[in-house]
Amino acid sequence: MSAESFARRHEKKREISLQALIDRAQRIAFFGGAGVSTESGIPDFRSAEGLINKESGKYSPETILSSLFFCLYPEEFFDYYRSHLLYPAAKPNNAHIKLCEIERAGKLSGIITQNIDGLHRAAGSKRVFELHGNVNENVCVKCGKRYGMDAVLSAKGIPRCECSGVIKPEVVLYGEKLDEYVMRGAKRAIADADLLIIAGTSLSVEPAASFISCYNGRDIVVINREKTPADEKATLVIRGSAAEVMSGIHIG
Ligand code: NAD
Repeated sequence: MSAESFARRHEKKREISLQALIDRAQRIAFFGGAGVSTESGIPDFRSAEGLINKESGKYSPETILSSLFFCLYPEEFFDYYRSHLLYPAAKPNNAHIKLCEIERAGKLSGIITQNIDGLHRAAGSKRVFELHGNVNENVCVKCGKRYGMDAVLSAKGIPRCECSGVIKPEVVLYGEKLDEYVMRGAKRAIADADLLIIAGTSLSVEPAASFISCYNGRDIVVINREKTPADEKATLVIRGSAAEVMSGIHIG
């Protein structure tokens, strides 16, 4: 990039505010990750306090949260899952709440989240595409009976259905495919948007991260505490906390 075009882009990044971009947008797509929920008290994966940097014993979190590990060592899987991925007391924060307001104002194309915590739905959002599932949805692998988070949380060891089948969380484990219907909806919501906000994600989990390439619009906003691979393409990069930044937005 020439010095001149770098300077122009840099200038543009400083000039436009998130408020102005949201005011002129009609269909906002919000692509989020674990960083959207850290202010609700749920640790992300890759920050200093993230799960990857916490003691997880002999195996990495990615190994434990894989479909192979689930099949081979279900007891160890559930021990880790219960203690590191379930936060029954977590409440939606200002980012979740503001997105709900954006939807009510008729300006939302969709919330595409990699999070499994269910906090967008808990905040009242409807157009939510949970790419990796939701900890509140659990199903018996034998008879198909459905359960809430409590069935997993309160069980000792492997949670079992009354038919004796294992109750499996409907979250996408490493090595599993994403739901076709959810993927299609997510890609359409991004493709139809005229503003894409990418927040609280390192964009390192595939195929989810590549969904942002479906975006056809002009403006991209990145809200993240650290550098991301999308910064270079963004109209505006905000190096800050998602909940704090989003709470400053006024929806007219
Ligand atoms: P990640 O941990 O790889 O990246 C999170 C990013 O968000 C980091 O760049 C970090 O600097 C930034 N961040 C942290 N707190 C922030 C804040 N308050 N405001 C703005 N930025 C913030 O997370 P990822 O990209 O979502 O990928 C991790 C995978 O792990 C996902 O697939 C997700 O399903 C799963 N996960 C989900 C949850 C959850 O449901 N809440 C929690 C942990 C992990």
